[in-house]
Amino acid sequence: GQCASACPFDAITEVNDVEKVKAAIQDPDKIVIFQTAPAVRVGLGESFGMEPGTFVEGKMVAALRALGGDYVFDTDFGADLTIMEEATELLHRLQSEEIPIPQFTSCCPAWVEFAEIFYPDLLPHLSSTKSPISILSPVIKTFFAQKKDIDPSKIVNVCVTPCTAKKAEILRPEFNSSSIFWDVPEMRDTDICITTRELANWIKEENIDFAALEDSKFDTAFGESSGGGKIFGNSGGVMEAAIRTAYHLFTGRPAPKDFIPFEEVRGQEGVKKASVAFGHFVLHVASISGLANARAFIDDLIKNNDFENYSFIEVMACPGGCIGGGGQPKVKLPQVKKVNEARIASLYKSDEETDIKASWQNPEIEELYKLFLDEPLSEMAEWALHTYFSDKSDQLGKMKNLTPETNPMST
Ligand code: SF4
Repeated sequence: GQCASACPFDAITEVNDVEKVKAAIQDPDKIVIFQTAPAVRVGLGESFGMEPGTFVEGKMVAALRALGGDYVFDTDFGADLTIMEEATELLHRLQSEEIPIPQFTSCCPAWVEFAEIFYPDLLPHLSSTKSPISILSPVIKTFFAQKKDIDPSKIVNVCVTPCTAKKAEILRPEFNSSSIFWDVPEMRDTDICITTRELANWIKEENIDFAALEDSKFDTAFGESSGGGKIFGNSGGVMEAAIRTAYHLFTGRPAPKDFIPFEEVRGQEGVKKASVAFGHFVLHVASISGLANARAFIDDLIKNNDFENYSFIEVMACPGGCIGGGGQPKVKLPQVKKVNEARIASLYKSDEETDIKASWQNPEIEELYKLFLDEPLSEMAEWALHTYFSDKSDQLGKMKNLTPETNPMST
C-alpha cells in the first residue's frame, strides 16, 4: 500500500501474527472471534488475482470460517457504534463552552500517535470515542459473552485490518475495558491483529481455493452495518457517516436524500473541505489524508488561529484512507492511484446497495443500546466505548537524530 511511507509503525509491518491465531484455533479451550475492517473486503481479492477493488466480503467471511473462526463479526458494525458516540460527542462540543472545537477524529492510530508526539496541545480536540475495532472488542467480551454465556477468558478477539498501526493500537494499556468489567487483570480487549496480507498468505498456505468459496454471512449481533459503517475505509467516509447520523441527532429527522453522496469529502485529494447546514447549525468540516497534509493543515490552523472556523476534522494517515493501508496487498507505485480508486469505488458501491444509510438506523445498534449501553455517552458507554490520549512529546527528543528522510513521521 501507499501507506508504507506514511505509517509510523511500518518498521513492524512484517511481524507475522498468524501463528498466534493458529495456536488459539488449535486450543480446544479457546473461542476465536474474528472481526474484519471495512477496507479488507475490497483489497483481499487482489492477492488471488482478482481485479483491484473486487468486493469479496462473502468469500472473506467463508475463508475465516474455513480457517477455524468460531464467529465472524463485522468491524463495520463497530464503525456504526463509533459514529453513534462520535456524532453525539460533536453535538455536545458544539453546545458546550468547555470542550473545544473543532473535534478531530481519532480512529486512525497513526494519526493519534502523531498528534500525541507532535501536537500534544491538540489532544483535547481529539474525539474520545474508540476506533471501530477497539470499540467492538470490549462489547464482544462483555455483552456478547454474557448473552451467549461464554467464559470471556476463553475468547480470543482477532481483528483483520488493512492497517499495520493497529498492531500497536490494540496494545495501548487503556484498551482493557473487559479486564475491568470481569476483574481479570491480564485480559485484553483485542488479543491479536493480522493484516489483509497476512490473511491472504494464510489462506494460500492452507490451500483454500479462495475463488471457489461460497459466500458466507457475518454472524448476527454484530453483523449488520449501515452504509455509513461500510464507507469508513475511504478518506472522507468517517465524515460522511458522521454527517448522516449528526443530521438526525441535531434535527430529529433523517438526513435528506441529497446529503448522499456527500461528494465534497469523497475522492483521493489530500485535503477536502465542505460546509453543511443542519437546522440552526452550519458545520464546517475537512477530511485530510496523509500525515504531511495533516501537518501543513494544522500548522496553518495554529498560525491563523482558525480553530473556531471548523467544527469537525477527519484525519487518516494513509493517502486515500484505510483502503490504501500498509497491510493491504502491495501495489506497484505507478498503479497506486488507480488501484485505490477501484477500492474506494467498491466501498461506495456497497453503500449504494444498502437501504440503511445511517448508523442510528442499524437495528443491531438499536438493540445493543437497548439491552446494554442505554444511550450514547451514557455512563456505560463512556466507560466501555471512550478513551483518552497522552502527551508523548518527550519522544521527540529520542527522534532528534532522524532526518526528514528517515523520520517515519514525516511523509
Ligand atoms: Fe491504519 Fe487506516 Fe490510519 Fe492507514 S489510515 S494508519 S490503515 S487506520
